[in-house]
Amino acid sequence: MIFLLATHNQKKRAELERILAPLGVQVLTAEQAGVELTDVEETGETFRENAILKAESGCRESGLPCVADDSGLEVDALNGAPGVYSARYAGEHGNDDKNIEKLLHALRDVPQGARTARFVCTACCAFPDGTQLLTRGECSGSIAFKRSGNGGFGYDPVFVPDEAGGRSMATLTDDEKDAISHRRRALEKLARVLQEKGICDS
Ligand code: IMP
Repeated sequence: MIFLLATHNQKKRAELERILAPLGVQVLTAEQAGVELTDVEETGETFRENAILKAESGCRESGLPCVADDSGLEVDALNGAPGVYSARYAGEHGNDDKNIEKLLHALRDVPQGARTARFVCTACCAFPDGTQLLTRGECSGSIAFKRSGNGGFGYDPVFVPDEAGGRSMATLTDDEKDAISHRRRALEKLARVLQEKGICDS
């Protein structure tokens, strides 16, 4: 079975594609499938609700089973913010630079030990018959005092995963990020469910 991958974020799309291929989940981008997807308004209050909105919309518009994710950063000292508003934390959708600036400013007086945070990803696969599969992955870490690294996207330059030996996510190679990321964890679970249901091989 071939799935449509519904995302307008190029960097996230690259991650989703490189994670899903070795898991045996074959995907097409909207461009490859020859469909134009509406940019879905993320009106949900949870990652789960937004992932469903995106996957359902992609499935409806293409007629194909569709995989989408909704993800973001939860910072404990900010009571879980920016959360579902991660992409538009500083107002303008997808302005990573401004989002990081606002985050560092909000945490300027928060000491090292209280800067704990996590990336969260909810993946949704929506089928034309109305069925949905949902999985969630997390990556725990903390927020650095300044940026480092040029890899990844979003908050990667200031997010230090617990499993990265003090390095920011943006200093990791693609393989290193994929080994521990929230997105990889959610998609691995999704691939497992698809295999158990006999929808995907391997
Ligand atoms: P979405 O497209 O609504 O899922 O927005 C996700 C937002 O959360 C992105 O724009 C980033 O700001 C942030 N985010 C999600 N995953 C990551 C990641 O792997 N690295 C850095 N930032 C991320």
